[in-house]
Amino acid sequence: MQITFVQEIKDLMVLDKERIALESHIDIDDEENFEELCKLVDEAYEVAVPKVCITKMKVRMGEKDDEVYLNDILFKSRILAANINESVDTYGIVCTCGVEIEKWAQKYRNDPLLAYFADAIMVEVLGNSVVYAMKYLSSLSDMSISHASPGSTRDFPLSNQVKLFEAIGNVTEKTGVYLTPEYLMKPLKSVSGVYFANDSDYSDCKLCTRMDCPRRREPYDDSMFSKFYS
Ligand code: SF4
Repeated sequence: MQITFVQEIKDLMVLDKERIALESHIDIDDEENFEELCKLVDEAYEVAVPKVCITKMKVRMGEKDDEVYLNDILFKSRILAANINESVDTYGIVCTCGVEIEKWAQKYRNDPLLAYFADAIMVEVLGNSVVYAMKYLSSLSDMSISHASPGSTRDFPLSNQVKLFEAIGNVTEKTGVYLTPEYLMKPLKSVSGVYFANDSDYSDCKLCTRMDCPRRREPYDDSMFSKFYS
C-alpha cells in the first residue's frame, strides 16, 4: 500500500528578514531597500502556503546493477541502485514554496528590484518546506538521510522527474506542483528527490562538476565520480 504524507506548513513558517537581505546582498542599514523588503516579507506571511509531499517507496532491485524499482516503476540509475535496496527506508519527496506565493510574486514582475526581492522570499519559503521534510524524515530514522535529485547528475537526468512524480503519486493534486514539457517543476521554487536513510553520506554535490555552484553543500569527490562513472 502506498503511504503518502502531505503537509501545509503555513503556521510553522518562519521568514527571516535579515537572512533574506543577506542572501539578496541587501545591506540592512540601507533603510529604504530593507524597508521595502520587509514590507514584501510581511505580505508573504499572509499569502504563502509551503507544502511537502512524502511517499514511502516500495523498493525492489532490478536485474542489472543500474536498475531499481520504486513503487513498481523502473528507474535506471547506478546511484540509486548502489544506495538503496529492500531494507533501506526510501522516500519520494516534493517540497514547494506553493502556488499561492508564486502567483503573488507575479504582481511585482515589472519592477526589477521588487521582483528580485520576491524571488528571494520564495526561496526562503521553499526552505521552510525542505527543513520540515528533513525533520520529518529524521524523526522516522536514526540513520542519516541522503538524497538524489533528478537533474543533479548525469546518472539521474532530469527526465526522471516524470517517473518520480508517478511513483510519489498525485503530486499536482496534493501540492499544485506540475512538470513542464522540459521536466522543470512549476512553481519553480520546488525541489524533488529520492531520499534514503542509510548513513551512506551520499551527496549529489560530490559527483557534480559544476564547480562554481553557489549552493554546493559538499566538495567534489573524484573517487566517488570514478566509482559511478568509470
Ligand atoms: S553542486 Fe550545486 S548544482 Fe551540483 S548537485 Fe550540488 S547544489 Fe546541485
